[in-house]
Amino acid sequence: MDYSPVLLEIQKEIKPLIGKGKVADYIPALASISPDKFGMAVTTIDGSVYTVGDVSEPFSIQSISKVFTLTLAFKYVGERLWNRVGKEPSGNPFNSLVQLEYENGIPRNPFINAGALVIADTIISNSKNALSTILDFIHSVSGNRQITYDRKISDSEKRYGNRNAALAYFMKSFGNVINQIDQVLDLYFHQCAITMNCIDLSRSFLYLANHGVNPLNDERLITVSESKRISSLMLTCGLYDESGDFAFLAGLPGKSGVGGGIVAIIPGQLSLAVWSPALNRHGNSMAGIKALELFTTKTGISIF
Ligand code: GLN
Repeated sequence: MDYSPVLLEIQKEIKPLIGKGKVADYIPALASISPDKFGMAVTTIDGSVYTVGDVSEPFSIQSISKVFTLTLAFKYVGERLWNRVGKEPSGNPFNSLVQLEYENGIPRNPFINAGALVIADTIISNSKNALSTILDFIHSVSGNRQITYDRKISDSEKRYGNRNAALAYFMKSFGNVINQIDQVLDLYFHQCAITMNCIDLSRSFLYLANHGVNPLNDERLITVSESKRISSLMLTCGLYDESGDFAFLAGLPGKSGVGGGIVAIIPGQLSLAVWSPALNRHGNSMAGIKALELFTTKTGISIF
């Protein structure tokens, strides 16, 4: 199927939403990005790519990186991972502290910030150079070895990262962070500051659409079951306290980031990446959600 006409239609229909909402400014380095950008890329498992708009411009992937790090941590420790992090939607904002005290320092899921910090801690414990491990993984799934992080953004996250530091210290008090706090935060801020464009992002999620095998080189990265579990978590927790609404609207496993990107997959078929930096109050791209909803409505394909 040629997805180009449907992408053009979507671009036209979401125009009124472009720039509505607010670019993330609690990380000052993100505040200067133009809210008027919009790009969308579809990559099918057989490698065909369909695009519209600003698809070649790299942006900060932010929390989308949490899917890559979850994949690595899951590979390292298997089911033991779930002793340290839950698999329930939190119903709270991504950077919330409140649930952690009631739940003894065990984050609800790997996609809220607290969960991603535990995942970062797990990667540090299991690899020699955690950041290179993450970048190597992204290079292999995207097929692009140029991908790296933006130092201005990682510095900015570190400078204004008091809330993430609070989460990490709090979990350490329960024994759920093993490595040094600075090391864990540093890795987390760098993974969030990785920049990718829509084409690379859509390609790099194909291993999940393809049940654990990277279709670029036929390498099995994770088991079918692990791929199912990660995709299920995307469906239930990928857009934080808007995950239910997103599942209702788009009917797809997705993962968002405050850089304005959202990636979604249709298992067995394709992966989609959309970018528009203006966010709604949940920290998710306003035009991005609509674009993904329109894609499944117009094509009639979703996971249901
Ligand atoms: N770096 C961001 C933070 O820690 C990531 C949040 C997000 O993309 N939702 O707050």
